[in-house]
Amino acid sequence: MATILASTPDDVEATSPAPVRWQESLRTAIRSSDELLRLIGLPKSIASETAAADFPVFVPREFVAKMSFGNPQDPLLRQVLADPDEVADEWARSAFQDPVGDTAATRSPGLLQKYSGRALLITSGVCAIHCRYCFRRHFPYETAPKGPSGWQAALDAIQNDSSIEEVLLSGGDPLTVADSQLQWLMDQLNQIEHLNRIRIHSRVPVVIPQRVCPDLLDWVRSSRAAVYFVVHVNHPQEIDSSFADAMKKLRLSGASLLNQSVLLRGLNDAPDVQLELCRKLINLQIIPYYIHHLDRVSGAMHFESSIEIGHAIIQHLRENLPGYAVPRFVRELAGEPSKTPL
Ligand SMILES: *Cc1c(COP(=O)(O)O)cnc(C)c1O
Ligand code: SF4
Repeated sequence: MATILASTPDDVEATSPAPVRWQESLRTAIRSSDELLRLIGLPKSIASETAAADFPVFVPREFVAKMSFGNPQDPLLRQVLADPDEVADEWARSAFQDPVGDTAATRSPGLLQKYSGRALLITSGVCAIHCRYCFRRHFPYETAPKGPSGWQAALDAIQNDSSIEEVLLSGGDPLTVADSQLQWLMDQLNQIEHLNRIRIHSRVPVVIPQRVCPDLLDWVRSSRAAVYFVVHVNHPQEIDSSFADAMKKLRLSGASLLNQSVLLRGLNDAPDVQLELCRKLINLQIIPYYIHHLDRVSGAMHFESSIEIGHAIIQHLRENLPGYAVPRFVRELAGEPSKTPL
């Protein structure tokens, strides 16, 4: 007891190991159900090899460290566990491969446009974590253009269309790309005069917080176009002090911070869970932007919650939080001119 009281934050800083570089985190991430379950004290029989063969397991150790030990219902584990429910029956397997019409929205290689004024650049086909509910789990990422030469066609298309005011860097996850390449991309985008906003969609700050490193902050800070940073946190247990620090650095570098989450059955589709999530987010000056109704993708149907539950959650948030803390509950329907409010 005495030693704990005697230790100052500086002592803690000096004794805790330096965080590994983010590239190292990706390299040493967990890639098998057996290893994941061993680390958190659960039997390997709760994972499905068939599901893992369909969509490989991939989880950095920083994310595993936020899971509770020995709990098969842990909300973070459930986001990444190759679950037998993914391949349980015909229904599980029958849903769409491309539920949101990405193939039809492709304007040039790697550039999707569905909505007026904004276009989405598939900056990388790689993610820093494999989320089992993801609608992009069947996207042909191998064909996604990579690096400066791969992005050139998309940059030309944006340059030649003055109606595009905003570019979303998405993927995959754009922050799996090296900062030297991202700096190049930001410079190119910033030279396009009609482009006023650059939005970065990434789950990395919550998965590998040390990815928010000085080089990244440099290219955020140097952008002429306004930078919006949309993270993806589904459950309050994902939020810890390293995530908070990373987001604060982004904010102090001039980015506006938003969050989107996906409504996941039995995981975050309870009013109190969403209330705690939104409260923690706004305490970090992150505005809850969207709660997405699940996109119907094969292998993820067991995560589908209901629209009624979503409405009850929004009502609960409205009654307990400031208006700016209440996210929009939406779904994406192929061919619609915006996300569809529910
Ligand atoms: C979701 C999405 C956007 C962004 O929509 P907002 O409502 O502006 O957040 C843009 N482009 C594509 C292709 C999208 O899927
Ligand atoms: S695109 Fe986002 S939600 Fe999908 S697997 Fe990658 S990080 Fe997860």
